[in-house]
Amino acid sequence: MNKYFIITFGCQMNKSDSERVAQVLERIGYKKASKINGADLIMVNMCSVRQSAVDRVFGLQSKFEKLKTKNKKLKTILTGCILKKDRKKFAKYFDYILNIRDLPKWPKLLKIKNYELRIKNYLEIEPKYSSFPVGYVPISAGCTNFCSYCVVPYTRGSEICRPAEEILSEIKQLVKDGYKEIWLLGQNVNSYIFQNINFPRLLTMVNDIPGDFWIRFTSSHPKDFSDELIGAMAECEKVTPYLNLPVQSGDNEILRKMNRNYKIEDYKKLVKKIRKKIPEITLSTDVIVGFPEETEKQFENTVKLFKEIKYDMAYIAQYSPRPGTAAIKMIDNIPKEEKKQRERTLTEILKETALIKNKKYIDKTIKVLPNEYKNSFLIGKSFHYKTLKFKGNKNLIGKFVKVKVIDATPWGLSGKSIKEKCL
Ligand code: SF4
Repeated sequence: MNKYFIITFGCQMNKSDSERVAQVLERIGYKKASKINGADLIMVNMCSVRQSAVDRVFGLQSKFEKLKTKNKKLKTILTGCILKKDRKKFAKYFDYILNIRDLPKWPKLLKIKNYELRIKNYLEIEPKYSSFPVGYVPISAGCTNFCSYCVVPYTRGSEICRPAEEILSEIKQLVKDGYKEIWLLGQNVNSYIFQNINFPRLLTMVNDIPGDFWIRFTSSHPKDFSDELIGAMAECEKVTPYLNLPVQSGDNEILRKMNRNYKIEDYKKLVKKIRKKIPEITLSTDVIVGFPEETEKQFENTVKLFKEIKYDMAYIAQYSPRPGTAAIKMIDNIPKEEKKQRERTLTEILKETALIKNKKYIDKTIKVLPNEYKNSFLIGKSFHYKTLKFKGNKNLIGKFVKVKVIDATPWGLSGKSIKEKCL
């Protein structure tokens, strides 16, 4: 029997797409290979958000060449976020470059006879889930926001939203199958709308599905974060008090150049409103340092914001020019060393604020969902999306466990499982 192997780079959306690809490959007769060496078909799901991610795919080529000398029938497919200009270069290395939105047509494109998928939208394909007890459920795909640094609107196309009914039935099945953490995914979940159902309404409908599970979502755009959504988050008991709210910069001029469509004052007001309704919320952000012509003074505004907001976590990226985006026309004048320094500065502030926040959990008993087991330790996330490590039995993976927190670092907590009443 022919075997397939999937390599996924990038975000949770790519992970989720790979689960749908796996389903199609299995339906056309492939079986999952445990190692890349045993595969007759290798699918790479790539990410173009940063040049380093693209380079990693180029880096696979020598390995593929070696594998092809050993297995003459080996075929390779490239999908995911691929820039137009990279497509031509990759065409030399891959047998097929296929668009993920064309997934229903893949059997035909791969010249598989007597198999047809009679669906239009690839999101209708039932995935082969691979992250138990965490289930990733896309609610939309693509983006129409055109932030000036971002490739997504070009590589994934404009936003399409999935029918609510389809989303709900996928989640009901996941809950039935024992999944305990459901992630609603989209490039901008806040702009979800299908017929008259918007995102807050959808959250409420997911919350109403019977069962013991948590709901999380990503990504959020501050410009679309409504009061109605804050209300829904506060009222829905399964929606966890965790939010990633990308700010990208603390400076209004840089935000304008990024085409983010909000001012930093709006962002701060939004955080204030969210914290008023959900005081214990864990807040993380995404930020880019060294955007074209970002002056020291403008960077200082991001420093001030970090000190003021006191994030629990931040994903700090050094600006990397991406072909085809509006920002490529701007002058990338911040030297690499300076970008690194700005990243270090923000990381230092984050370390302090995150440690203070994490220390508050010491001696508390919290509910954790372990999903990984390494060297006799279970690792998982808490309701508040804090990483927790504790000694325990492997068979606790996928079960809610009560853990007493005994120590904290800026990046996580450690504890011991107990049988006391949970918070
Ligand atoms: S909202 Fe902006 S950063 Fe996010 S995917 Fe869309 S264009 Fe990219």
